[in-house]
Amino acid sequence: MDKIVSLCKRRGFVFPGSETYGGLANSWDYGPLGVELKNNIKNLWWGKFVHQREDVLGLDAALIMNSRVWRASGHLENFSDALIECKSCHQRFKAEDLGYQKDDQSGNTFLKIFTDGNRNCPNCGKDIGFTSPEKFNLMFQTFIGPTDPLNNLFSLWLDFQKSEKNKDKFGKEKISEEINNLFKNIMETLVFLRPETAQAMFVDFKNVLDSSRKQLPFGVAQIGKAFRNEITPGNFIFRTREFEQMEIEYFIKESEWEKSFDYWREQMFLWAKDIGIKKMHEFEVPEGERAHYSKRTIDFEYDFPFGRKELYGLAYRGDFDLRNHFKNPPYRDPETNEEFWPHVIEPTWGVDRTILAVLLEAYDDSNKERIVLHLKSSLAPFKIAVFPLLRNKPELVEGARKVFKDLKKSFSVTWDDRGNIGKRYFSQDEIGTPYCVTFDFDSLNDKAVTVRDRDTMEQERVAISELPDYLEAKLS
Ligand code: ATP
Repeated sequence: MDKIVSLCKRRGFVFPGSETYGGLANSWDYGPLGVELKNNIKNLWWGKFVHQREDVLGLDAALIMNSRVWRASGHLENFSDALIECKSCHQRFKAEDLGYQKDDQSGNTFLKIFTDGNRNCPNCGKDIGFTSPEKFNLMFQTFIGPTDPLNNLFSLWLDFQKSEKNKDKFGKEKISEEINNLFKNIMETLVFLRPETAQAMFVDFKNVLDSSRKQLPFGVAQIGKAFRNEITPGNFIFRTREFEQMEIEYFIKESEWEKSFDYWREQMFLWAKDIGIKKMHEFEVPEGERAHYSKRTIDFEYDFPFGRKELYGLAYRGDFDLRNHFKNPPYRDPETNEEFWPHVIEPTWGVDRTILAVLLEAYDDSNKERIVLHLKSSLAPFKIAVFPLLRNKPELVEGARKVFKDLKKSFSVTWDDRGNIGKRYFSQDEIGTPYCVTFDFDSLNDKAVTVRDRDTMEQERVAISELPDYLEAKLS
């Protein structure tokens, strides 16, 4: 992991967030190469699951939704972790991580100590115990509109102190009335940053259906940011408080759920193969640990250096979601005229965890001479690098610039004229550029360039006139 984190910073994939201000714990910025890798992943996913299909439609919904959405979906009540605190060092932990277990299938956080007895605090090592678990909602809150409840609360608090000091009974009564108003104002303006992209796809179900005139089965896909006030973020971009998801809600008739589940299960493996992820395992989530409405859930786990952890998920959610949001059945079968709430299969992919797994799979420092990212060419930030053999020979620079500009019309290409050719290869291998093109002295006469393959390190002479077609074929 250290090697990946350091490479990411050095080469511009991922930087620590707000670094000039001392950072903001566990926030990360995607740099010039990181954003290319991320966009390549998202575009590939959108291409595969939206553009290349007839039965999946896209959506890009607002991040902040009416708070009633989160009440109806159960997030206000249940989207929480159990928080415990070491009585000695006051470090806070997710209870589940220390062997406490959820024992209520509805997802409520009634907890009991797992059988492993007393635990020493992983932070300070003492065993004087932890506070009893408290429910901690993971949704980020903010207020909408020209209102500033926190500031109002602060002024009220100052007024209260003053009235206490002056033994001003009348003042105190007024403050208590204002506190009531303030709470009312808070309840009216409180909104949440979405903790998942999924809910908008349920809430917009009727709009998508009516505007597209689709019939079951069909899906809605969305890529976007989600926010969770995680208790224990960490492991680089694996668990952050702000992250991106790629999700599909696939709407079906109840009788089709098993077939559809198996189909999407296979699709998730095919996707992993497409992007070069090999170490993915299935974990069939047992009944007690599944959400109460799910008849089947699979966690797709990856062998990260810090352990086997969830990469993606696949859940059969029954008709739980559409029933939450629609009082009346939102779908009418065109043949039978039967009205009902469609059932849902939900495959979900984390973008940031995908990036981490892709980098871990691609990283290769087995050869002492070089570090290589064996990225699939579809994911590589740059597909091609173009160099003049020597930077101080204007005729070589001019020839190479022409090749560079021409290729840039069709490919993501980078230019490098620093150092010697060996250093440039090293530099491109480290960021996963599949092909390097060098314009040398012979190029001036034979109108050809040397193309070097990142993985095999083999070099081939290719006519400049044939270069775009040659590279197109290699990269596809
Ligand atoms: P975990 O058990 O690791 O907290 P989860 O089961 O809560 O994950 P889901 O709610 O199923 O996760 O979210 C779908 C996907 O979103 C996950 O498979 C993961 O790839 C990604 N994801 C969830 N939480 C985070 C996070 N805090 N940081 C980065 N990615 C995340």
